[in-house]
Amino acid sequence: MKYDVIALGAGSGGISVVERAVSYGAKCLVIEKGMVGGTCVNVGCVPKKIMWNASHVADTIRNASGYGFDVELKNFSWTTLKEKRDGYIGGITNWYGGYIESLGIDYVEGAAKFIDDHTIEVNGERYTANHIVISTGGRPKIPTDVKGAEFGITSDEFFALETQPKSVAVIGAGYIAVEIAQLMQGLGTESHLFCRKENVLRTFDHFVTDELKLELEKNLSFHTNSTIEAIEKTENGLVVISNHGRTEVDQVIWAIGRDLNTDNIGLENTSIKVEADGVIPVDQYQETNVKGVFALGDIIGEFPLTPVAIAAARRLADRLYGGKEGRYLPYENIASIVFSHPPIGTVGLTEVEAEAKYEKVKCYTTSFTSMYSSFTPHPVKTAMKLVVAGDDEKVVGVHMIGPQVDEMLQGFAVAVRMGATKQDFDDTVALHPTSAEELVTMR
Ligand SMILES: Cc1cc2nc3c(=O)[nH]c(=O)nc-3n(C[C@H](O)[C@H](O)[C@H](O)COP(=O)(O)OP(=O)(O)OC[C@H]3O[C@@H](n4cnc5c(N)ncnc54)[C@H](O)[C@@H]3O)c2cc1C
Repeated sequence: MKYDVIALGAGSGGISVVERAVSYGAKCLVIEKGMVGGTCVNVGCVPKKIMWNASHVADTIRNASGYGFDVELKNFSWTTLKEKRDGYIGGITNWYGGYIESLGIDYVEGAAKFIDDHTIEVNGERYTANHIVISTGGRPKIPTDVKGAEFGITSDEFFALETQPKSVAVIGAGYIAVEIAQLMQGLGTESHLFCRKENVLRTFDHFVTDELKLELEKNLSFHTNSTIEAIEKTENGLVVISNHGRTEVDQVIWAIGRDLNTDNIGLENTSIKVEADGVIPVDQYQETNVKGVFALGDIIGEFPLTPVAIAAARRLADRLYGGKEGRYLPYENIASIVFSHPPIGTVGLTEVEAEAKYEKVKCYTTSFTSMYSSFTPHPVKTAMKLVVAGDDEKVVGVHMIGPQVDEMLQGFAVAVRMGATKQDFDDTVALHPTSAEELVTMR
């Protein structure tokens, strides 16, 4: 059967490309071997944010006495939250099913494989298209060189846990490791976070990660410079054996990165280039080395985030079918949030990156305890940094950590993308009393 567009994978990228292409009249097929919605909806952003919200509620209750409330955090039902969370996600995936059908997009369940550069096989049927989009995402890694590693679970199984572990060891240094370790601690689980180096989130600006480190040291058991030697199963649970000794826990969660789903899609039958780490190289229009075959989302190895996959997919369809010549996604000034406690928000260049790119770089910083936090028994700091470059002090980076920065960043990301200068920030009248006003009043 012949289509205009075939997307491999119905995750953030795959769904978005066919959704936009069909709106221009293209005949589309999307093939999915797992759950519609992909990682983000089923085992990523959505369940993670719900768990983070729950942990945030627990924090608010713990802090309420600071405002004169006589409340106590007595009990938390993991089962209730999980049932509600699964129901919420079920609602999204059910809706997707109907939505895809209502748009007239064909949907096939099964594992897609390339037979040659322009032919896909699934469930024994062959399909071809003018444009094939590979958007098969990734899967969590478990190390192969740690004895007993198989006793640990990954983020996928974490979201399936039916009962709340009393203690967890999360191993990793990326945002997923930090988020799971902290939200579990917030929900009352004794949480250990193991990372190989001095600190986590090593690609982020040190100004915010130094602050995060202080919070991690305060809130959970943070084991830096760790080498994991083995995981042992005992009658009581699991033991993490590291260079720091033995740590007994109920669950071990590996969050050491993701393998890309490009090793199992028949690329060996094609001339599509793939790098040793599974990344499919593409040009600025998401096109691989084979004309008419595109790749987007996590598998291109840049900014593995849902809105990035969606933006790349929509722009590709706009260009191919919407008459929007030259439309593409530039992979710069992409904002991201880490749902740590407190959250981190960042857009643009770190100080180190700016110094490598520009001659004249200056930083403005501020650090304070917000009004809300000052009243609580467990106050947390807010820290903000603007990285500016050139004589006109163009703002090339905004980095923040603190309560509610997750909801502050989006508007500032627009300003950075538009090329705002420090003077533009200064000329913007503040919103008072907020923490966000500090971003336009820095000296
Ligand atoms: C725990 C966690 C938390 C996250 N939190 C955030 C967050 O807060 N914000 C954010 O922006 N991003 C977050 N992400 C990242 C986000 O989920 C991904 O960047 C996004 O899902 C990538 O979209 P994609 O389309 O590339 O791949 P996916 O969404 O992974 O979709 C790929 C799909 O392809 C399917 N597939 C694979 N192989 C085949 C095949 N051979 N045939 C057919 N189908 C196939 C898979 O089953 C999957 O459904 C998180 C990820 C994780 C794991």
